[in-house]
Amino acid sequence: LERTFIAVKPDGVQRGLISEIISRFERKGYKLVGIKVVVPSKEFAGKHYHALKEKPFFNGLSEFLSSGPVVAMVWEGEGVITYGRKLIGATDPQKSEPGTIRGDLAVVVGRNIIHGSDGPETAKDEINLWFKPEELV
Ligand code: ATP
Ligand code: MG
Repeated sequence: LERTFIAVKPDGVQRGLISEIISRFERKGYKLVGIKVVVPSKEFAGKHYHALKEKPFFNGLSEFLSSGPVVAMVWEGEGVITYGRKLIGATDPQKSEPGTIRGDLAVVVGRNIIHGSDGPETAKDEINLWFKPEELV
């Protein structure tokens, strides 16, 4: 069954949005197969966002992801990679539709509270980066 990597970023944790975010995936019908709270190092955050290495905001982004607790999760279910991104909404919360997580709960792109893998390859890579096989059910 398909799996994706979802993370509540430090701003989402700090704002008390963990349960709200979990609820939306759970109510949709997806299954939580791994979860942990971690404070990633800046180096680790950079690995997670390696595809964006050349972007002007890469340094600030890596710094931000490592600035506090992150709730790292793996969710499983049919279409969870693509549909998870729909639940999350567009990258820029100003462009996210109401009803999506970012549309309802965030305002600016640098503080968009949640991450979701953008395809099957990145899902696999990100799950392997954040979790050991024995941490998943
Ligand atoms: P994520 O990978 O976090 O799920 P995404 O796939 O919607 O988000 P990406 O293009 O992968 O978007 O960008 C990763 C993250 O980088 C975004 O979630 C956002 O926090 C940050 N980001 C993207 N564009 C900008 C920007 N123009 N300025 C500042 N931060 C940005
Ligand atoms: Mg992305």
